[in-house]
Amino acid sequence: MGGALFPPLCPGCRAETAEPQSLCQSCWSDTEFIAGAVCDTCGRPVTGLPATEPGFRCDECLRNPPEWDRARGVLVYGGTGRRIVLALKHGDRLDVVPMLGQWAARTGEGLIADADLVVPIPLHWTRRLRRRFNQSAELARAALVAARRPEIYAPEVLRRVRRTASQDGRSRSERAENVADALAVAPGAEPLIRGKRILLVDDVMTTGATLSAAATVLRAAGAKSIDALVIALVRAPRDDYLRAEQRKEHPSEESEA
Ligand SMILES: [Zn+2]
Ligand SMILES: [Zn+2]
Repeated sequence: MGGALFPPLCPGCRAETAEPQSLCQSCWSDTEFIAGAVCDTCGRPVTGLPATEPGFRCDECLRNPPEWDRARGVLVYGGTGRRIVLALKHGDRLDVVPMLGQWAARTGEGLIADADLVVPIPLHWTRRLRRRFNQSAELARAALVAARRPEIYAPEVLRRVRRTASQDGRSRSERAENVADALAVAPGAEPLIRGKRILLVDDVMTTGATLSAAATVLRAAGAKSIDALVIALVRAPRDDYLRAEQRKEHPSEESEA
């Protein structure tokens, strides 16, 4: 598109901005990027640590150990970050993908460098048809383009073999149950996975139920390690938060309605 005719729009609010693929001042200040020390397991910010320690688990991860090894998120789910994630997921806003991919490549630099394969969390094919694209696949591909490692993109490794109802309003255990057995390794993909370091990519992590379900089947197929990279992390995925989300009718993590 001609830059002179169409000035760049802020991916957060669609106001005119100076630079393409960058947030306006107001959206920028309403975005909580994750910086500094994080839990090595879930990627959530931790206080009182000078730097991220390998293997460190926050209280949440000690209470509910996830099935993956390490995770990182670009930003805290809320404000502009939440708006952009929902725009991509429910609004066909593919225009935000390059910016999110660059952010993910930066935040996930170490995880991408260590990975043999990058696997997006799949949608069920009926949902992909309706939505025309899988936001996690688009994010994974954009992150790898930005990281200059497009050759490790592996979107066909996982399948969603069962449609799952929306995760909204479900407790942690209900979420885990809802996605259990919904994901499987694609037929014939086991030799690709065996002994490999896998990096999963998804848009949002709430309780991590979907990522844990994916990690479980990849581990069973012989993956050597499983990390996760997401755009947005819900800060405190407690059940009361999930209930509050339902009251606000906010679509959250695996919500696919
Ligand atoms: Zn804006
Ligand atoms: Zn943690």
